[in-house]
Amino acid sequence: MSIVSEKMYQLGSKRSEIRELFEYGKKRIAEVGKENVYDFSLGNPSVPAPDCVRETLSDLISGDPVSLHGYTSAQGDAGVRAACADYINKTHGTGVTANDFYMTCGAAASLTISLNALAGEGDEVIVLAPYFPEYKVFITQAGMKCVEVKCREEDFQIDFAALSAALNAHTKAIIINSPNNPSGAVFSPATIEALAALLRDAEAKYGRPIFIIADEPYRELVYDAETVVPFIPNYYDNTLVCYSFSKSLSLPGERIGYILVPPKAAEHDAVYFAVCGAGRALGFVCAPSLFQKMVPACLGMTSDISVYKQNRDLLCEALTAYGYKVVRPDGAFYLFVKALEPDARAFGERAKAHDLLVVPSDSFGFPGYVRISYCVSTDMIRRSLPAFEALAKEYLG
Ligand code: PLP
Repeated sequence: MSIVSEKMYQLGSKRSEIRELFEYGKKRIAEVGKENVYDFSLGNPSVPAPDCVRETLSDLISGDPVSLHGYTSAQGDAGVRAACADYINKTHGTGVTANDFYMTCGAAASLTISLNALAGEGDEVIVLAPYFPEYKVFITQAGMKCVEVKCREEDFQIDFAALSAALNAHTKAIIINSPNNPSGAVFSPATIEALAALLRDAEAKYGRPIFIIADEPYRELVYDAETVVPFIPNYYDNTLVCYSFSKSLSLPGERIGYILVPPKAAEHDAVYFAVCGAGRALGFVCAPSLFQKMVPACLGMTSDISVYKQNRDLLCEALTAYGYKVVRPDGAFYLFVKALEPDARAFGERAKAHDLLVVPSDSFGFPGYVRISYCVSTDMIRRSLPAFEALAKEYLG
């Protein structure tokens, strides 16, 4: 008998497919040189944090180190939470307060805390495929069942008939992620209105709240003036917003984000205290103090995302011209491309022969595709295009 938890051993001893590919890329770089490997595996922002980050950190560091580096309140510094509330109220016309926020170590912590806060015996959480693979880990760790509902293949928008069929008396929540990793799809205000109406009907039918958990690390990463990312609490009361500064400010290694429990959420105070309790039980109290204190000066700022737009346009146009089927993404920094054979892993292996590292879609719950992360240098994309073309020719002639 093992002395460790079998479940945790399984999670820890196997790298994710994405990490595996990234490690393979490092090995190939050592063999054939950096210029000859086209690594599209990771979602690590490729543009530097905006100046406000460096300026604010340098001001903070010249202040009193004892208070700067000390513990904050478990749920986060009160002044930081008040600044977040002001910003959300100004941006989205809401009436939230500091006491609706819980500062976290990024979206991953926001999600695990929210899920643990809501988890009840027999509860189910719906995820829309394709989805961020860690959702499954987070949901099952919280003791709930992960129910997958596939999006429409033509545009990766919600398939409302399929979603409606998945809702039942056990549904506790649905995670939505817009702009989406891995498809880049953004749900419009009309889509969110339709989702809210469907969920309200289900709440009435089953006599209990169903939460939207809005996973929003890519909220600001949209590239066209007409793309609107609706603020979900303005459409649906029972929402938990899981926000992160990882992608908007290019700070994924610093682990900073928040959970917002909007005042109109059902049993608001109970949900907020359960969030505090889950943060405590999971050991996530007091998000990194220095980065919490950076937040007020950087709310609403982003890195220079014009680079991602340029990358998206370059890749979409080139890949389409070579014969790949590409749904143009409205946001985030991923392209979800149909593999040129049914088995995405086999296709990924053939791509590797061209030193193109793309992630097979099986772990995103949507087989037959590959994810291309375009948060890389534009120069690398330009150099990779002949390899994409040669790969397409192997299949399409
Ligand atoms: N949710 C999605 C959809 C993501 O893509 C990621 C990271 O890539 C996360 C959550 C985790 O974000 P964080 O680094 O803020 O924990």
